[in-house]
Amino acid sequence: MNRAPAARPPFALVHLLVLPAMDPIQIAYYPVRWLFITLAYSMIFHRHENLSFTYAQIGSDWNGTCKDGQMQSPIHIMTNNVAVDDEAQPLVFVNYDQATLDVELKDHTIKFDPMPAADGIKVGIAGGGLMGFYYLDHIHLHWSSSEHAIDHHSYKMEAHLVHFKTPHGNLTADEAIDEPDGIAVLAVLFEWGSADHLIDDMVLQLGRNQTAAELKYQPIDFLPKNTDEYIRYRGSLTTPPCSEVVVWTIFTSPKTVAQYQVNWLRGRKLSKGVPEAENFRERQPVNGRPIAVMDASYSYVNQIARRSSAQNLPAFSVTVLLLISSLTFLTASSFR
Ligand SMILES: [Zn+2]
Repeated sequence: MNRAPAARPPFALVHLLVLPAMDPIQIAYYPVRWLFITLAYSMIFHRHENLSFTYAQIGSDWNGTCKDGQMQSPIHIMTNNVAVDDEAQPLVFVNYDQATLDVELKDHTIKFDPMPAADGIKVGIAGGGLMGFYYLDHIHLHWSSSEHAIDHHSYKMEAHLVHFKTPHGNLTADEAIDEPDGIAVLAVLFEWGSADHLIDDMVLQLGRNQTAAELKYQPIDFLPKNTDEYIRYRGSLTTPPCSEVVVWTIFTSPKTVAQYQVNWLRGRKLSKGVPEAENFRERQPVNGRPIAVMDASYSYVNQIARRSSAQNLPAFSVTVLLLISSLTFLTASSFR
């Protein structure tokens, strides 16, 4: 009997998602390519972190792509003219419950880094119309107002779950930087309501003087209850250099945050020594970009998941979701 070489899950699944139709020589070069592209991404983001900017004019004074770009974020989304796509596929959250979060003060925000429970655990997303696997780089917050608004409604806080595309075959470093879907950000909106437990833990751990701490919460705790309905559009980072490489996913179902929690964020000294009372960018012109409202609750995948969960087979449904997202990716790749 022929046996495939043993590969440890979940790496085997990630491998399936990101290495379509590659010959053995390409596979041998995969670690080199991965390192090279990861460095390229980190250069963008270190440049990003080192760029000095302020929110004094809610971003209207930022230059470069921030000023000249035609696909900038955030935007005001009007859903009344948008048809709901009820054949959308759900997002698959891979190992979102297999990592805790370390929290750290930054110059303009508070940032959460995923700390996987064991070596080799990849935390990220697939499915949901995304081409391939995107690993979770970090999560950060915008407060006092959400950045995105929906149907004239803005929220009190917005969390950005920032994911980088896992490099795949035939992609050079230059192409990775320029790739229009190099980064996928999930936006979670918060409205006034009961206190968020994760934010409470963050307040407790950071206290008055701490600049970094470990939380007991996980990436999954940032997600709203319903992730089946989301808005999808192409845009940019919302801080300089405002690179136009982001596939945005905005969940329409909000979470809640208490007023005292946002007040704490507004008053907390950040790493540059002063608080940031508001850290959201003004909304940008849509410029005719397509905006889609996706509803995955009727999807075939969800029907299977529902049926199998009724039979108490959650592991099966996750496998089906990953398999279908891999097939979507392979099919899409072959038509490139
Ligand atoms: Zn952000």
